[in-house]
Amino acid sequence: MNYKTLQELVSLAQSEEKEFWEIVVKEEAISQNTQSELVFEQMRKMYQAMKRSVDQYDPNLKSPSGMSGGDGERMRRYRMNNEPIAGDFLSKIMETAIMVAESNACMKKIVAAPTAGSCGVLPAVLLVFEAEKGFREDRIIEALFVAAGIGQIIALNASISGAVGGCQAEIGSASAMSAGSVAYLEGGDMEDILHAATLALKNLLGLACDPVAGLVEVPCIKRNVSGAINAVVSAQMALAGIRSVIPPDEVIGAMAAIGREMPVCLKETGTGGLAATKTAKIIAGSLA
Ligand code: SF4
Repeated sequence: MNYKTLQELVSLAQSEEKEFWEIVVKEEAISQNTQSELVFEQMRKMYQAMKRSVDQYDPNLKSPSGMSGGDGERMRRYRMNNEPIAGDFLSKIMETAIMVAESNACMKKIVAAPTAGSCGVLPAVLLVFEAEKGFREDRIIEALFVAAGIGQIIALNASISGAVGGCQAEIGSASAMSAGSVAYLEGGDMEDILHAATLALKNLLGLACDPVAGLVEVPCIKRNVSGAINAVVSAQMALAGIRSVIPPDEVIGAMAAIGREMPVCLKETGTGGLAATKTAKIIAGSLA
């Protein structure tokens, strides 16, 4: 990979007079020893799989633990039958995030982007932007490459694994990737993309990974909603010209440091945080 930081990726794009996403496609084509067009079509398949994960949502499914299922439909019905305080657009993002994350808990096929635990964030944002704002699918695929570039750099310099860096690495990374995508879709320049991702990541720094009974359900499913909405509001801040005081790559460095300093009980072991509450222990005991 010819870039190791966000700043290097942007510098490369500027020197080659290409878009952020084009550099990511080009580097992936080189690493796979294939054509850029084929890489683009691979990503299209990922996006179509994301769409299927929403289309095939089953409101009647319950996860094997019994903790999850049906909330996506609950959210959808609430939106249809009320005037949701978050408005129709954000409410659609909320319900889509829940649907995909619930599908994961119910063992349905999802796209782990960047992880299964955070699988609802990107589809929630991108599918709703495509449907509600009329973006062409190709532009959404380009936005997915923006997300991929951001995710690559976080994975390289920090982590995208809850077991290594806590939930900031999963929901935080997914939110940052989505924020960058939204900034791109909405016509932001490369600075906007970087700062959208950075603001989203900053907002979730330090988030513990504390799944109840060690299952990717509680609090994971609802955190997908927060990650998706955080992505949209962070992108909007960046598009308005608001900048992160701490530069993007330094924020990723801070995330890595927080991950290293985080106790093991908050890194997917299911032994700290919410997983250590009285109720969580009762649930875990009943499932043992
Ligand atoms: S709490 Fe842990 S398992 Fe759940 S989404 Fe976050 S990182 Fe993944």
